[in-house]
Amino acid sequence: MKRNLLGLDAAGLAGFFAELGEKPFRARQVLQWVHQRREGEFARMSDLAKGLREKLVESACIAAPAIVGDTLASDGTRKWLLKVDGANAVEAVFIPEARRATLCISSQAGCVLDCAFCSTGKQGFNRNLTTAEIVGQLWLAKKLLGESKEERIISNVVMMGMGEPLLNLDNVIPALRLMLDDNAYGLSRRRVTVSTSGVVPEMDRLRDECPVALAVSLHAPNDRLRDRLVPVNRRYPLRELLAACNRYLEKAPRDFITFEYVMLDGVNDSDTNARELAAIAKQVRCKYNLIPFNPFPQSGFARSSDERIRRFASILQSAGSTVTVRKTRGDDIAAACGQLAGDVADRTRRTQHKVVAVKEVHA
Ligand code: SAH
Ligand code: SF4
Repeated sequence: MKRNLLGLDAAGLAGFFAELGEKPFRARQVLQWVHQRREGEFARMSDLAKGLREKLVESACIAAPAIVGDTLASDGTRKWLLKVDGANAVEAVFIPEARRATLCISSQAGCVLDCAFCSTGKQGFNRNLTTAEIVGQLWLAKKLLGESKEERIISNVVMMGMGEPLLNLDNVIPALRLMLDDNAYGLSRRRVTVSTSGVVPEMDRLRDECPVALAVSLHAPNDRLRDRLVPVNRRYPLRELLAACNRYLEKAPRDFITFEYVMLDGVNDSDTNARELAAIAKQVRCKYNLIPFNPFPQSGFARSSDERIRRFASILQSAGSTVTVRKTRGDDIAAACGQLAGDVADRTRRTQHKVVAVKEVHA
């Protein structure tokens, strides 16, 4: 089996070249070719000796997931459906804004955690993505945005697509290291965000191995409600979760946790809930990001009204918290938070009229 070099970080590539009997600086050269120039053919890596290029053609490949859907929303949000193997597809979403452009990527096909309001959770768990499949989403997005002459710098990456990144850290951490590596994507630590529903031991591991920005999906201000909405809370209740947040922040005095809070009509959006939530800010250095619920068929939930969200936000603000309300992006193409399902058949049927250039963009 050929080694897929797309999924090797600097240390992994150095090991690979050592096995081939090559010098370690080859790792840096190949990182730059693969991730900065997005060159997929070893034969065109002109500053590598001919013999080495031939060896690489024999023993290695650069393989990203295949693109099976490319959909553009009316607000400029673009969603790619990526086939990761015979049965599974995942989604990546590009969200351009005035001063930045964010790529939202997936870490797993499906999710085992089954939060009550999430369509990814509803489809169950299929499998972990490999490092190449994770970083391949960024690789492909940059390549495609460049090719369509719409090149914009992807300034931020958020792991808020499908799956729970902290349940796939073996593959997520090398992908994060590539995002931060100056020879690859060179993103700063604060512009790469991992979002978790609160898998406490893995929060400690991320802090120790690659402490990027952390978003925590809180969604409820007390255990009774959180047990119902975010089932992993039964294993790691709020007290333990908040302690893990503080451990995460210990060594970074300027950092804060972003608490995500999905606004569910009549479920977690009362004045009392807002006051309970404000009390949490006294325990952890944090900002709140309120996410209007994005509906999907048979979810059983409804979005809180704009007025309710405003009132909820103002209670938090009066208590001294920083609050933002997430703009819903790409909901006309089911690309908004929690709408990603990655089911090829369903997705193609639903968005057929808006699928653009599917044939032309095969990687
Ligand atoms: N598994 C991780 C990351 C992926 S979900 C996590 O749960 O944090 C990214 C964010 O979208 C999470 O905050 C998640 O709770 C939220 N989300 C899920 N379903 C949603 C929906 N239907 N509407 C709005 N946000 C949703
Ligand atoms: Fe999984 Fe996150 Fe969806 Fe919960 S919200 S089911 S953890 S992807």
